Amino acid sequence: MPLSRRSVALLGATGSIGVQTLDVLRHESERFELVSISGGEQLSELAAIADEFNVKRVAVKSDAHRSTLGELVARDVSIVVGDEGLSELSSTADVVVNAVLGFAGLPITLAALGAGKRLALANKESLIAAAPLVTTVRDTRGAQLVPIDSEHCAIHQCLASSPAEPGYPDVRRLLLTASGGPFRGWSREQLRDATKADALRHPTWSMGAKITVDSSTLMNKGLEVLEATALFGIDAERVKVVVHPQSIVHSMVEYVDGSVLAQLSRPDMRLPIAYCLGLPQRLTHHWGDLDFTTSMELRFEPPDEEAFPALGLAYEAARLGGAAPAWLSAANEVAVEAFLADEIRWCDVVAIVASTMEHYVADPLTSLAALHENDEAARRWARASLEK
Ligand code: NDP
Ligand code: MG
Repeated sequence: MPLSRRSVALLGATGSIGVQTLDVLRHESERFELVSISGGEQLSELAAIADEFNVKRVAVKSDAHRSTLGELVARDVSIVVGDEGLSELSSTADVVVNAVLGFAGLPITLAALGAGKRLALANKESLIAAAPLVTTVRDTRGAQLVPIDSEHCAIHQCLASSPAEPGYPDVRRLLLTASGGPFRGWSREQLRDATKADALRHPTWSMGAKITVDSSTLMNKGLEVLEATALFGIDAERVKVVVHPQSIVHSMVEYVDGSVLAQLSRPDMRLPIAYCLGLPQRLTHHWGDLDFTTSMELRFEPPDEEAFPALGLAYEAARLGGAAPAWLSAANEVAVEAFLADEIRWCDVVAIVASTMEHYVADPLTSLAALHENDEAARRWARASLEK
């Protein structure tokens, strides 16, 4: 049975996930209509997307961005601004792809779920920071939270046949795979001299700069442990990280009887994006198969938690709960931004997150106002430790 044409809002259309989503949509124009987009600073690219896809509405960051974009787009589009603009566009389409970077994606996550839409979530930071609040809005009638992040998308697929009982009692552990990033096997001494060029050279994935740095520190995997607990309602003690350098097995679910289910594919984000758009149907792919006619090696090894302390910090934030994950993610955003601006060394990034976490005061996070206060406090402490 063919799918009826679904409307799609793609927020963060100019980024790495955004561009790959557009590629899927170009091949699937009979099934999906792109109605709304947003972008940050790349306004010419945003205007070109608006024109190519005939989108109706565009969200930008400020009034100044709106004026510039207005001059760049050839057609008449409605341009909305700021967090309210993002929320408005997130409440109207059938599927909302949140491909914005960092905490700035929060209004999208809350608005899409609150309006009972399908949220195809790449923006892990909003879910990690706001987990106690998201748990409530995702109960809205019709709301569906589907992860684009490849590991969580793999787990979503492996859990498809499990009874959806709270906490998944049949599941012993979720096994999150990690490529290990560009510094796998490096000693602590070698890591002291790691450069920005080294950190941005990911061995298997081509992604935006922030997540590429997060992969090099293993903070990305730490954030993904927190993301998994929020998505699947499984405690962090039941989420294990396994290094798998080939990035073919995207994650696994181990059941109580010892059976392990895995999802395999070439490392290409268009697959999880297409999965989230098409669910419950699969979209025919154009991104290549795994080749089982030649020999292929799949290796697994434990992570080096001493050389990469970010993982331990994330497990500690999970244990603390409340606003601790929001602090971890906010401090990491500040530190990675400073690293990308050449203000600090690679080895300072996780050190800044660790010293920020020392100032965390337990907060159960019961309101959006409290989340913003915690986010601001964490950023203040992180900036203060940048100056030390
Ligand atoms: P990019 O940096 O490539 O793209 C980010 C997008 O968000 C761009 O469209 C950017 O606009 C926009 N943006 C950035 N800051 C703001 C802001 N303050 N307000 C509004 N829009 C903003 O990131 P990625 O595509 O790599 O990552 C996006 C999200 O997906 C992240 O949360 C990441 O962790 C997650 N993810 C990414 C994967 C990947 O393969 N890239 C894999 C799994 C998860 P502009 O460029 O115009 O300034
Ligand atoms: Mg991932």
